[in-house]
Amino acid sequence: MTLLSVETLTARHGLLTALRDVSLSVEAGEVLCLIGANGAGKSTLLRCIAGAHHAATGTVRLHGRDMTALSAFARVRTGIALAPEGRRLFPDMTLRENLMLAAENGRRGDWTLTRVLDAFDALKPLLDQPAGGFSGGQRQAAAIGRALMANPDLLLLDEVSLGLSPAAVEGVYASLAQVRGGGKMGMIVVEQDLTRALSFADRVICLSEGEAVLEGRPADLTRAAITRAYFGLS
Ligand code: ATP
Repeated sequence: MTLLSVETLTARHGLLTALRDVSLSVEAGEVLCLIGANGAGKSTLLRCIAGAHHAATGTVRLHGRDMTALSAFARVRTGIALAPEGRRLFPDMTLRENLMLAAENGRRGDWTLTRVLDAFDALKPLLDQPAGGFSGGQRQAAAIGRALMANPDLLLLDEVSLGLSPAAVEGVYASLAQVRGGGKMGMIVVEQDLTRALSFADRVICLSEGEAVLEGRPADLTRAAITRAYFGLS
């Protein structure tokens, strides 16, 4: 069943067109990885879906319902949660406070504090520490945990491995494998590590200069085709 459908979305930053006529869909339980060079429009696309950036034209539907006019806050309540680039935790608040605030603003469901800590066990010893002192991997785990606390149907993760040590990337993806396991939640993951994206995704879309230029299941895509799309050569 289609969870998310994005139709002919165009987005601008001032005079710059960051996304041009992008259409995509995500099924319940599916993991879509977005790849593409710096500036391709990946973050803008996630932000448009989450309502953090207003698209110039096009529609965003969740469960068939038009979200286009809804604020970011209202979209969280209807089931879309974003773990943004830069993580944006409240640095003076403890991890527990960051997580509970997200729970209050989100929906009720299976993702409780206990379940988040079970999935991200690196967070357990940090509960009562201010988020401002966390390492990159801890911040990313906390940001994903915070998004889960809103009990989304669609989880949007920006730049999952960017700036993390190899060990931290392993840890975060081990937790994400647990998060996706058997659930109905759909995910869109922006991942700049191509190998990682191809091993984690059910489906991959490559953006180039604001357009979706390649789409497919990892097994059906060749490295050569991906490289061409990545550099805007296809
Ligand atoms: P990156 O990996 O660098 O984050 P991206 O694929 O996520 O790249 P976006 O961040 O969506 O790409 O940026 C798409 C285009 O829009 C780029 O040319 C970028 O410079 C521009 N852009 C993004 N945010 C803004 C903004 N707030 N103001 C002006 N231009 C912006």
